[in-house]
Amino acid sequence: MKDSQRTLCVFCGSAPGCDDVFTSAARELGAELGHQHIRLVYGGARMGVMGALADAALAHGAHVVGIMPTALMGRREMTHTGLSEFIEVGCMAERKAEMMARSDAFCALPGGMGTLDELFEVLCRAAIGEHQKPSGLLEVGGYFAPLLAFFDNATAQGFMRTSLREELIVSSNVQSLVHRLLPKGDAP
Ligand code: AMP
Repeated sequence: MKDSQRTLCVFCGSAPGCDDVFTSAARELGAELGHQHIRLVYGGARMGVMGALADAALAHGAHVVGIMPTALMGRREMTHTGLSEFIEVGCMAERKAEMMARSDAFCALPGGMGTLDELFEVLCRAAIGEHQKPSGLLEVGGYFAPLLAFFDNATAQGFMRTSLREELIVSSNVQSLVHRLLPKGDAP
């Protein structure tokens, strides 16, 4: 059962990336969530962009929920042990379902295949009308430019609805992105 606190689900890399800009942006987002009393739902790991995000959110007072499949939890050194809530699930599909059910909006930061898998599932389900929750990308150092160019081409070639492309919120500004994904006073 969801309460009235706004919840943002963030998908992001288990690696830190090759440039500090990625973890810096994650820390900035984590701090913003704390300032705005927005709950964070994410994958529950303590390393990479994920760890930077969770640590900053916790340091700024946000309630942080980690959701992790049992198989990944076996790798104890990767599990964040200081979260407000930790939810163990059976598999990756269950994790995504749980993340979607518990969140009001979704946002991807730079990451790899796991991040893209999660983002694409959210966009795919929006495309077929399974949910109407907003989705966005935090653009950092031009990381998502090739993906956005692909989406533009997919739209131009008639494989992706223009509205779906237009509904994806893209910003390199943390405050603006959070405001557009979860406008204040818009608690469910
Ligand atoms: P990737 O972008 O491939 O690094 O995968 C990161 C995304 O996949 C995160 O949003 C997580 O939900 C999930 N993920 C992948 N690897 C892990 C891991 N070792 N621990 C927790 N979550 C992970």
